[in-house]
Order: sequence, then C-alpha cells, then structure tokens
Amino acid sequence: MTALQRDLAKLIRQDIQSMHAYAIQPSAGLIKLDAMENPHRLSPELQAQLGRRLGTLALNRYPAGQVDDLRAALAKYAGMPDGFDIMLGNGSDELISLVAMACDVPGASILAPLPGFVMYAMSAQLQGLKFTGVDLTPDFGLDEPAMLAAIAEQRPSIIYIAYPNNPTANLWDDAVIDRIIAAAPGLVVIDEAYQPFSSRSYIDRLARHSHVLLMRTMSKFGLAGVRIGYMMGPKALIAQFDKVRPPYNISVLNCEAALFALEHAGVFAAQAGELRKERSRIQAALAALPGVKAWPSDANMILARFPDAQRTFDGLKAHGVLVKNVSRMHPLLANCLRLTVGTEGENTQLLSALKASL
Ligand code: PMP
Repeated sequence: MTALQRDLAKLIRQDIQSMHAYAIQPSAGLIKLDAMENPHRLSPELQAQLGRRLGTLALNRYPAGQVDDLRAALAKYAGMPDGFDIMLGNGSDELISLVAMACDVPGASILAPLPGFVMYAMSAQLQGLKFTGVDLTPDFGLDEPAMLAAIAEQRPSIIYIAYPNNPTANLWDDAVIDRIIAAAPGLVVIDEAYQPFSSRSYIDRLARHSHVLLMRTMSKFGLAGVRIGYMMGPKALIAQFDKVRPPYNISVLNCEAALFALEHAGVFAAQAGELRKERSRIQAALAALPGVKAWPSDANMILARFPDAQRTFDGLKAHGVLVKNVSRMHPLLANCLRLTVGTEGENTQLLSALKASL
C-alpha cells in the first residue's frame, strides 16, 4: 500500500471509496442516443442572438436579480399554483442531493420504485440515509400493495415518483399515485423531468397537498448542457430547502441561456412535438421486428427488449449508434436497451443499424 492509499483509507469514507462515479459513455463520432438529450441545436440565427446576449453579461459579478427573473419565468411557464415557491438547482441532480441533505434527520430514509433514476438511491447513499427500492410489476406499473406496505414499514421521509419514469418511460396510474401520497408520512417528490414529452402532468393537483414537491428540468426541454433544474413546492418547504442550496449555484451564463430559451419556448415545443412523432415512428418499426418488444413511452426514450441486448448494443455501436444498455440495472430489465429519440435522420440510421444487428 502506498502512502497515498493509506491516507485515502483514513480520509475518505469507506462507502465512497467502494462506489463508482456516475458513468458517462464515451460518444465521440457516434450518433448519441443514450442520454435523453434533445438532438436539436439552436438555429444559427438564435445562436448568434444568444451569443450577443451572453457577451454583454457582467461576468465579474455574482449572479443576482437575473436568477429571480428566471425563477419567475419558470414558475409562469410551468403554471405554478399560488402559495407555492420555486428553487433552482444546477440540474435537478443537485436538487435531489439538496433534498437528501435537508432531510438528514436520525432515522430518515428515501423510498422509490425500481428500476428508477439512479440519483434517488445515490443521494441517499451519499447522505448516509437508508434507501428502499420497491420493484415495479413485470409490466412496469407501480406495485401498489408493495409500495403501501413498504411505506407503512419504513415510514420514509422522502418518496420519489418519476412521472414518466426513467428508464421504463411510462406514466403511472394517477389513482395509485394519489393513494401513495395519502399514505406518505413525509414528503413526496414528483419528478417530471420528461414533462415536454408526456401526455399528463401532476401540476394541476399540486395545490391540493402541503407535502408534495414537483421537480422539473430544462435538460430534456433542450438545454441539457445548461444545467437548470427546478423544484416547486409550498413556500414554507421551499424556504427550508433553499437554506442548503450553495450560494450562487446558478451561473449568470446558464441563467441568461435559460431565460433566452423560455423566450423562444415555441421553438422547443415544436421540437418536442417532432420528437413525439418520431417516437411513434420508432415504436411502429420496433413492433415489426421479430423477437423485439418495445413498451409504450411518454418520454423521449423507448425501452425495448431484444433477444440478446449486449449483441444488439455492440452491433449498433459498430454501426455508429450509441444507446444505453440497461440490462444489468435490474432483473426486470433483462436484455433491455434504452433508446433515446433523435432527429429523423438519426432515427432512420438507428432503425437500419438495428435491423443489421439483430
Ligand atoms: N430525473 C430523471 C427522472 C432523470 O432521468 C434525470 C436525468 N436523466 C434527471 C432527473 C436529472 O436531470 P438534470 O440533472 O439534467 O436536470
């Protein structure tokens, strides 16, 4: 053992030493259909307009009033109810970490359906909170009896419900969500990261509750590179979470880019509409492939099962298409790949690469 290894063993938490960092697949030269990004860049004209705006910002100053402008613009865009407040995170990933940090009281725990977004469990682990995963049903529905039993037994401080879910891409039965919210002894976070592609939202029912938070992100809207997540909840709750937010967590550049995007929300809405159409086209093509099962999607991704997912993943990659192999994430996902919906041309290449790889 070197001196450095000896020091690390003393300095760094044991559980962190045995963890893996959040994995990002190398994608140079590949069609990137692995991370639910919007495949469209801003038009050259909008890029030039944004560039001029970014060029006039006072980068010598910490972010100030413009962050309040963005909070107000997002609250308006989302239709936030009266009496609620909104806080911003450096992506919703940061908000998920902050929620765990603020709720770290003795005995606190986090509960979420599995398979689900990895950050819910990771935020619990990093904060030293217990995490309880409740398996979905084989058709990826919420297992209501199992969820209610786990809630009664664990009394979780936080329940995460991704709506739609990642990586299964589906929405849940609203009546089941209502019963979970009614049974929750603590907070429920509805994570609507994929809202631009979803046929339903929880926003209209948010005002009924004082223990439900709604999270969204601009990443899937079309600004994954900008890192803006937001969380809406009753004012008193958001005021508490705001205390754990690092100072100036939203850069002036990110803030200005997000304000600019909201001023052009119609452009992004049109892109989301196109991606929803492409999603239907991919699903129809997958349904015609022998031995392939694709599930319905309310997000910009499609979960599909293949006879041999690793072989198909490798075949796609050899044809220049990068997707996500989620087979080993959870037993329910055996032989499943998650395909992000790309541009029309990218999806056509995906489909022909798939045919060649099966
Ligand atoms: N929630 C869900 C369900 C997600 O799938 C993701 C990212 N893939 C996030 C939150 C995080 O999004 P971001 O940090 O980019 O805002």
